[in-house]
Amino acid sequence: MRILLVEDDRMIGESLQKGLAHNGYAIDWVRDAESAELGLSAHSYDLMLLDIGLPGKNGIVLLKELRQKKFTLPVLMLTARDSVTDKVVGLDAGADDYLVKPFDLGELEARIRALIRRHNGRSEPLMVAGNISLNPSTREISVGDCKALLSTREYVLMEALMARPGAVLSTSQLEDRLYGWRDEVESNTIAVHVYQLRKKLGKRCIMNVRGTGYKIGEA
Ligand code: CA
Repeated sequence: MRILLVEDDRMIGESLQKGLAHNGYAIDWVRDAESAELGLSAHSYDLMLLDIGLPGKNGIVLLKELRQKKFTLPVLMLTARDSVTDKVVGLDAGADDYLVKPFDLGELEARIRALIRRHNGRSEPLMVAGNISLNPSTREISVGDCKALLSTREYVLMEALMARPGAVLSTSQLEDRLYGWRDEVESNTIAVHVYQLRKKLGKRCIMNVRGTGYKIGEA
């Protein structure tokens, strides 16, 4: 899952980037609205974490402009003050949820999962494709009777494939889910993880579409 983090505070930015990257999110961190716009024009993101108080154009103005331009990605607003006005203005500007700083990383991740779930039209916490079901909060997967716990990267890959059953994702699209801008992309990672997932869950859990990429299997 790839997230655009817009936060000018170095300490908060660094700790969020580190904490979320450790848990398997690909994080691109920018510190102002203009860089956020550049990022959004160059990459596709699953979600944006948006600080309100930014130097120059603030988060609310940026958000209003993005919604006017029909950017539909889920936005979780980060606000420094526990003020009702900030929350109301932010939600009315097009934010899907908010957190007041300081917040707990576990709560942030739970809210991210909930936003992604709603964005993808699921009311259930479990992701299901055919007889494969994946629990995003525990990273447990079951394929028929076979149950397994996925590593962080295995989870990221399965989550990306299961979010769009039937769609074929290329190696580079999958790498985009795994790595942020500043991460060094290791060659062959996707193929290695697909191999391991098939070993764990059976060959048919991921289909290889020759010359194109991968899609979730029928299992
Ligand atoms: Ca700020």
